[in-house]
Amino acid sequence: MSYLFPNYKRKELELIKGAKQTLTDQKGQDYLDFTSGIGVMNLGYNDPELNQELLKQSNLLWHTPNLYENHLQEQTAEKLANGKDYISYFCNSGAEANEAAIKLARKATGKSKIITFVNSFHGRTYGAMSATGQDSIHEGFAPLVPDFVYLPFNEIEPLKATIDHHTAAVMLEVIQGEGGVSPADEQWIQAVQSLCHKFGALLIVDEIQTGMGRTGTLYAYEHYKIDPDIFTLAKGLGNGIPVGAMVGKASLATAFGPGSHGSTFGGNKLAMRVAYKVVERINQPIFLQDVQKKGQQLFHGLTQIAENNPIIKEVRGKGLMIGVEVSDQETLNATLEQLEAEGLLTLKAGQNVLRLLPPLTITEEEITKGLAILDKVLNNLVS
Ligand SMILES: *Cc1c(COP(=O)(O)O)cnc(C)c1O
Repeated sequence: MSYLFPNYKRKELELIKGAKQTLTDQKGQDYLDFTSGIGVMNLGYNDPELNQELLKQSNLLWHTPNLYENHLQEQTAEKLANGKDYISYFCNSGAEANEAAIKLARKATGKSKIITFVNSFHGRTYGAMSATGQDSIHEGFAPLVPDFVYLPFNEIEPLKATIDHHTAAVMLEVIQGEGGVSPADEQWIQAVQSLCHKFGALLIVDEIQTGMGRTGTLYAYEHYKIDPDIFTLAKGLGNGIPVGAMVGKASLATAFGPGSHGSTFGGNKLAMRVAYKVVERINQPIFLQDVQKKGQQLFHGLTQIAENNPIIKEVRGKGLMIGVEVSDQETLNATLEQLEAEGLLTLKAGQNVLRLLPPLTITEEEITKGLAILDKVLNNLVS
């Protein structure tokens, strides 16, 4: 028997070590990784510099309560602001970052209605789950946190009909990750922002999966020329060390005064030491240009595979966040299994989307190798 709750569907495969973009299982089999542990290991596995940072801090001090000054939080927050007027609150996960964003939005505006979108994913705590626009994730957990409204993604009319002076915030992913790697239209996002301004609602962008260089810019919202009031980070922020952040306009500071919100572990010294280095490494023009270039290589390769493959319905995404929509769920499951057997680890999103999130440090050669495996498997499945 297992002593664990069966809330995850686990494979028998156990990954026991990693180096750069390669993982090794308990039998010594190597895999090329196109998952980054679900968008977490953006700088790859076993990175010597990050290992050093963690080791140095672990020999100095692991933890202090948030009753004391914390220069590691200050310097990481400054890096996250990236020259703009943003301040940060640190926590330990994506759901917690969204939880903070929801609380801040209600407190800052004195309003309660929060609009989110169908097929969004914002996490599993009560607030974040209630924000998530997927019935399957709510099942059995009613009553949810009140005053969340779910609207169709990429459609402006339903939003025009729903947003009003009681709306505290509109919350969205600029590319829906778990929901199926679905990018927002630029015009739609800009119209969403205008409506938020018109009704005094805050625009919250969930960058938990799209942030930290994943799409070829530090934050994915930069592609859309918008200026969110709040955005949230986690996954890639700590490259595997649990850490999350809620980043908001400095003008929101007074709504989160002393005693309003907090977390024992949030902004822990080990996490901050690593996160600082992660942001520093990712937020370099050369690094981000390289992500864009490799994203184009992967996207182009997939489009070529799709050209004469009837299983593939669409290739979409940005940078190194790419979805390949296949004909149905069964085909997707077979694809995932066969890719794994061929030594390539990939993910699923939505019902029938193959999701590719390789570490941002992936090489051109590894992309070529991954594409060859994808080509072989997807062609074998055409019958
Ligand atoms: C993964 C994810 C979350 C939840 O993050 P956790 O760390 O699992 O709580 C929230 N939003 C998005 C967009 C995500 O991809």
